[in-house]
Amino acid sequence: MAARYAIPPGLWLVFLLGFGQLRAGEPDPGLRNDLASAGGSIAVIRLAPMRRQAEIPKTLEGMRRLTGDGFLCVERGDRLVASDLGPGDYEYLVDGVLDYCVTALRQAFFDSPAGGGKVSIFVFRDHASYVDGLRRFIGMEPISPYGHYGHSQRYIVVNYETGPGTLVHELTHSLMSEDFPAAPIWLAEGMASLYEQCRAEGDVLRGDDNWRLPELKAALEAGRMVPLAKLLAMSPADFRSGRESLNYAESRYFCKFLEELGRLPGLYKNFRQRSEADPTGRKFVEAAVGKPLEAIEADWRRWLQFQYWKE
Ligand SMILES: [Zn+2]
Repeated sequence: MAARYAIPPGLWLVFLLGFGQLRAGEPDPGLRNDLASAGGSIAVIRLAPMRRQAEIPKTLEGMRRLTGDGFLCVERGDRLVASDLGPGDYEYLVDGVLDYCVTALRQAFFDSPAGGGKVSIFVFRDHASYVDGLRRFIGMEPISPYGHYGHSQRYIVVNYETGPGTLVHELTHSLMSEDFPAAPIWLAEGMASLYEQCRAEGDVLRGDDNWRLPELKAALEAGRMVPLAKLLAMSPADFRSGRESLNYAESRYFCKFLEELGRLPGLYKNFRQRSEADPTGRKFVEAAVGKPLEAIEADWRRWLQFQYWKE
């Protein structure tokens, strides 16, 4: 791996800075079906009354016209990127993180032939630029302090103040939604959250521990964890109900456990290929690990006790 693509571990910790417990309400459920956010223990911000969402440009010229002065626009394969980051951050994120992660994730998981057209990506340098850009370019208020992916118009918005992990989270959604649109929410959010904090090992990504762990370990100790059979069968609406941040944490750390067993890529591909046989994925998890789900859950909980994260 070229040294310039190495992702300094310290930088991923930036992901946490600047956020409190902002939970203020749930946005319109119809809109949430179209938008995958980086949600979780922080917040879902109540939507202000929606204006009509703007049409997202799918050409470099269109991105330039829309964003205007102060935004650098580039085309990278099937992605268009517009950002007001300074040159150093821009090169790190667009030429480094973005290119590396797209290649690594496609190689490991998302290998269906690309065919969905361009993904338009907006990376805003800070919270003020993010809020302003969402209003002017997309025609909406933030649904998350981090960013989101819009499925129907295939676009990503990212508040870079929350760190580069947000882009990787939403990028994972954009790649998976094309590759495995029927993926259940535990897998979609589990994998997106897994790679929001990761490191590069050769040409693959590995999820690292992150801020979602303390809530999960507290739930484990208090006997409040959602049983795996229930988590795997959850609808998006149930997943995003009261215990949303715990559902994110459980899904992330179940995917991390499967990744450490070396079973995640094989499981993902089998599941994608035959998902109509079991849309929850339970059958494929059991086949990948070679045990009934209850035994996998017991192993996973033991493994969780030894996971550690410190801010
Ligand atoms: Zn997400």
